[in-house]
Amino acid sequence: MIRKTVRKFVDENLRPLEREVDEADEVDPVVDKQLRKLSVELGLYGHNLPESVGGGGLNALAQVVIGEELGRTTVALAATLGYLPGSLKFVSPAQREWFLEPILRAEKLLAYAITEPDAGSDFSRVATRASKVGERWVLNGTKQFISGAKTADFVILLAVTDPQAPLRSRYTLFVVECAHPGFCYLRTLKKMGWHGSSLGVFALQDYEVPDTHVLGEVGGGFDGIMATINATRIQYSGRYIGMASELLELAVAYAKQRVTFGKPISEHQAIQFMLADSEVELQAARLLTYHAASLADAGDSRVRVAASRSKLYGSEMVGRVADRVLQIFGGAGYVSDLPIERMYRDARAFRIGEGTSEIHRIQIARDLLA
Ligand SMILES: Cc1cc2nc3c(=O)[nH]c(=O)nc-3n(C[C@H](O)[C@H](O)[C@H](O)COP(=O)(O)OP(=O)(O)OC[C@H]3O[C@@H](n4cnc5c(N)ncnc54)[C@H](O)[C@@H]3O)c2cc1C
Repeated sequence: MIRKTVRKFVDENLRPLEREVDEADEVDPVVDKQLRKLSVELGLYGHNLPESVGGGGLNALAQVVIGEELGRTTVALAATLGYLPGSLKFVSPAQREWFLEPILRAEKLLAYAITEPDAGSDFSRVATRASKVGERWVLNGTKQFISGAKTADFVILLAVTDPQAPLRSRYTLFVVECAHPGFCYLRTLKKMGWHGSSLGVFALQDYEVPDTHVLGEVGGGFDGIMATINATRIQYSGRYIGMASELLELAVAYAKQRVTFGKPISEHQAIQFMLADSEVELQAARLLTYHAASLADAGDSRVRVAASRSKLYGSEMVGRVADRVLQIFGGAGYVSDLPIERMYRDARAFRIGEGTSEIHRIQIARDLLA
């Protein structure tokens, strides 16, 4: 039922806009709002958050199913369905009315900011500083590569609150309001894919907030991120499967109707091998992802390495599938009349976000060697 509902949402509302969004590198803000409202009405917005904070309370496997359907469309349009940062589960009762509820009603937009110019994979290098001055926190620092920062109303942001402390208690998550004068949006980065999903750089300059803007515990930023990181990686693994499925379906249909040397290209063994390799890798990625989701749902601590396996394999798998499918389409795959080249570009970022491939290999090797 969930799969059908999301597929219908994607097919009817998002798919017709894919080309326009990719070319304009923007989702029209009015359309964006309408789509998010529709998702709220369908009960899908915030589906990944626990019911205790007003979310849909879906388990990891259901989130993967949604991810699979969202992977069939563009990243920017998929965002309108409302997969929200898991850290929202740390909101206090006092933060609900002004912060959480407008987000759950899709009236306000949220970004999530960890990365900085000198801190990506290695977030022990995060330097944005929050210092307590009297009753208030004063924040200074720069965040970069932040999805949706350009249009966000709020940002959940990681800052150092105790520079001398070990990693686990060095950081705190804050809720930052973008309309605040201390929030300076610096620029939007131009990028090869994910068009319509802006990637921004912003600075905080003596941005002052009271304790009300601390998300979770002071010093709990590291654990806060770790508590939700696996869920996001598993959900994204679903997206890779969705995109690869979409590509493979297009390739199978095309191979059957495109004729060369007197027969459909699907009858050339070289093409069949590309289809077969893609199918095997797609199914392998699906099994790794469903396995990771089932461990998450069982509360099994092995989920961490399972999430790394599915994220690593799935993100690399979809890149290989996109490459083969583009080859099967020949010139038609390389031009933008069809969505193949768009997916080829979009897939490339999957090996970077949510932990790079190298970071996941390190995690997997560490687990193996231990
Ligand atoms: C499209 C997109 C959207 C994003 N959205 C967000 C967002 O919303 N919020 C946010 O906070 N961030 C976001 N990011 C940032 C993303 O999380 C980082 O790009 C990622 O963590 C990698 O950091 P980096 O780019 O600084 O690379 P670096 O950490 O500088 O790494 C550079 C290279 O070195 C490799 N490397 C690093 N350490 C090791 C090691 N120990 N061993 C071997 N190789 C290593 C990496 O794998 C990579 O290949 C986004 C990025 C992209 C591309």
